[in-house]
Amino acid sequence: MRVQVAIVGSGPAGLLLGQLLEQAGIRTAIVESRSREYVLGRIRAGVLESGTVALLERAGVADRLHEESLVHEGFDLAFSGRRVRIDLQALTGRSVSVYGQTEVTKDLMDARKAPGFYEARDVAVHSFESGTPYVTFNENQKIDCDFIAGCDGFHGVCRASVPAEKITLFEKTYPFGWLGILSDTPPVSEELIYVSHERGFALCSQRSRTRSRYYLQCPLSEQVDEWPDERFWAELRRRLPADAAQNLVTGPSIEKSIAPLRSFVAEPLAFGRLFLAGDAGHIVPPTGAKGLNLAASDVYYLSEALIAFYKGNESQLKAYSAKALARVWKAERFSWWMTKLLHGFPEEGSFGRHMQLAELEYIAGSRAAQTALAENYVGLPY
Ligand SMILES: Cc1cc2nc3c(=O)[nH]c(=O)nc-3n(C[C@H](O)[C@H](O)[C@H](O)COP(=O)(O)OP(=O)(O)OC[C@H]3O[C@@H](n4cnc5c(N)ncnc54)[C@H](O)[C@@H]3O)c2cc1C
Repeated sequence: MRVQVAIVGSGPAGLLLGQLLEQAGIRTAIVESRSREYVLGRIRAGVLESGTVALLERAGVADRLHEESLVHEGFDLAFSGRRVRIDLQALTGRSVSVYGQTEVTKDLMDARKAPGFYEARDVAVHSFESGTPYVTFNENQKIDCDFIAGCDGFHGVCRASVPAEKITLFEKTYPFGWLGILSDTPPVSEELIYVSHERGFALCSQRSRTRSRYYLQCPLSEQVDEWPDERFWAELRRRLPADAAQNLVTGPSIEKSIAPLRSFVAEPLAFGRLFLAGDAGHIVPPTGAKGLNLAASDVYYLSEALIAFYKGNESQLKAYSAKALARVWKAERFSWWMTKLLHGFPEEGSFGRHMQLAELEYIAGSRAAQTALAENYVGLPY
């Protein structure tokens, strides 16, 4: 089979890229190693920047999002028993939308008419440094193409296929993870609450008015089965400010997992006719809610560049890596800063904790500091 762009990976990056290219008349095929059901069932991000929403609108997949998403005009920072509201709308004129990654993925899959090969085995990318790249999978399937888009996430095959001397990797790992729980209970608050507590970070997030997502910072050495629901709820209550703890409605978890936190960037994102987008090229700790949104901004730059190429202008493709990385590094900085501000770092001692509290007090009292936080949270312009 031959297409113009072969896309490896059917996460939000691959599906959105496929949708935008197909709309522009560019033929694509997606090759995904997991089953469609597995991809749809993965519980991950839930906060969309307005730029991501605009891109989903442009891709023609935002009808259900507009009906079902919750528009949030602010969120709370909680520390020292108090809550400070960051009024995103007043500070930036913009808001964010709460809509699960699973729903974004479903909308994109429902819209896709072009070929998608799921449960593909032994996916490999070839000859991307020449003019005739191709993708192989299963025993004997081959897709010839003009370009390969590596949208196959952090553990994918595309970045791993680049010769080591052509790529530089920047990485920071954190000595803790996020223990997440999903429950069919009403959220504790209308908006998200980010909690900095002596016992560690907590986040009260949500997917809808009846479905909550809560997270607790936990040591990486801990296992999910050490955290029965009762233990999770009790620990969350301890970390929440009293008024929120009182309002907390608990119930059985429908998903529970521990995710490690990592900052990671690969440079560049372009290797001949192979382009990396989304988690294949970079990872952020989830504290700033940027992972899915960065995948969308990469896809914006890459789709524009590929569309321009087929209209006879090659310069945007040459600029893709630098343009995408400029935005990626700013989101990396913000995600690292939010992580540093809100999590427990016992190795930093009580001086480190005082620095966090002083910064939180400064944010609470400074419109300038709140604006800097808010404009990064709603998303920097593309
Ligand atoms: C547990 C967890 C929680 C998260 N929570 C948040 C959050 O709260 N907020 C936020 O903004 N972000 C969050 N993220 C990050 C966010 O989900 C990702 O940034 C987003 O999924 C990136 O999309 P992507 O399409 O680039 O990669 P992915 O969603 O990882 O998609 C990559 C796809 O490629 C497929 N693939 C992998 N290898 C191969 C191969 N060899 N061949 C073919 N296909 C392959 C995978 O199966 C997958 O379907 C979270 C991530 C994780 C893991």
